[in-house]
Amino acid sequence: MVALVFPALPTVTLPVTGRPERFPIRRIFCVGRNYADHAAEMGNDPAEAPFFFTKPADAVVESGSRIPYPPATGNLHHEGELVVAIGKSGAMVSEEDAQNLIWGHAAGNDLTRRDLQTEAKAARRPWDMAKAFDKSAVIGAVRPGPMPEAVLRCSVNGATRQQAKLSDMIWSPAAIIAALSRMVSLSPGDLIFTGTPAGVGPLARGDTCKVEIEGLQTASVTIA
Ligand code: MN
Repeated sequence: MVALVFPALPTVTLPVTGRPERFPIRRIFCVGRNYADHAAEMGNDPAEAPFFFTKPADAVVESGSRIPYPPATGNLHHEGELVVAIGKSGAMVSEEDAQNLIWGHAAGNDLTRRDLQTEAKAARRPWDMAKAFDKSAVIGAVRPGPMPEAVLRCSVNGATRQQAKLSDMIWSPAAIIAALSRMVSLSPGDLIFTGTPAGVGPLARGDTCKVEIEGLQTASVTIA
């Protein structure tokens, strides 16, 4: 047993649909611009190759949570997304082999401080403080098995803000994993936010934002 100067924080985990065990999280990767209509609404060319940013594992918020309006922003945005959960190690994998790395899926909300992201883009600075802040990764329970063939809907106080078929993604989960595995070695416990469709917008104090994907637990968060 290694002696530690203070107790290590526990591993961050998520509930698993239909099982008592929980899913231990290692890292969180996120894809930018994976739906043509969202790339267009942000003024970008959807034909670009996928690119990635990250959030820390301890940014995870479970569905049903109330979180404070985050500091340092006046323009908190929702981004409803499918989250892919990795269950096997892999590097430099083909798209065919990428499928074997997938353990399950969840609904997620890639909360974004849009004003900080806009400033970072203009100043050619990193996105970390816009994307990787505390409680920025709302994720529902992880469901083992294949990707649902479903519609993603993101609503605020019951009103639909984003709606798209998961099949509208430019890069499939397997293509994303193959591309990401050329950048880093993937490990069990890694999560990948797969990008958001058009309709991103602001959240205010008191709002409840739900990301629904048929077959998966809804990822719900309330801004206190
Ligand atoms: Mn996103």
